[in-house]
Amino acid sequence: MTTKKIPMGLMKKIALVAHDNMKRDLLEWAKYNRDLLAKHTIYATGTTGAMLERELGFNLIKLQSGPLGGDQQIGARIVDGEIDFLIFFWDPLEQQPHDPDVKALLRMAVVWNIPTACDRATADFVISSPLMDKEYDRLVPDYDAYRKRKVPGVIELKKRRPAETSASAVDSLRPGADQALA
Ligand code: PGA
Repeated sequence: MTTKKIPMGLMKKIALVAHDNMKRDLLEWAKYNRDLLAKHTIYATGTTGAMLERELGFNLIKLQSGPLGGDQQIGARIVDGEIDFLIFFWDPLEQQPHDPDVKALLRMAVVWNIPTACDRATADFVISSPLMDKEYDRLVPDYDAYRKRKVPGVIELKKRRPAETSASAVDSLRPGADQALA
């Protein structure tokens, strides 16, 4: 598969998220790395962000609380190329009401090749990487082939006759519908 480059500037856009039992860990980590983090743009889910702002003494971009959609907001910003990095201390010992959102966020991070740290040791290695002070081209698979894939049973609109364009899109999903209209 071919790849596309997504540039990361010197100033990175870093998302910080921690589940309740992990917030103390993230706070300690962020305090220790305060001066480094202050050089970048920091996003956070609501409660994590409010705590971090208090402790670090600078403004962050705060989104909704995680269970209220904050994880999804971060995922959407990753898709839009607005976030370069994810530090996500999720709780391995407790189920969350928004487990599907947690999984979706972690999935988006992999789809878009976002460096992701889910524990303190990984976060330490990531933040002390020499790449933090450099521009970096993130390589992402060229998803154009996926976007243009042929979906079995779906007729491309341009192939339909005018009288048929008002037919329900569901009709075109019927197996064999493309042969019927060909
Ligand atoms: P919170 O959300 O920062 O609002 O607590 C974190 C999460 O559970 O995803």
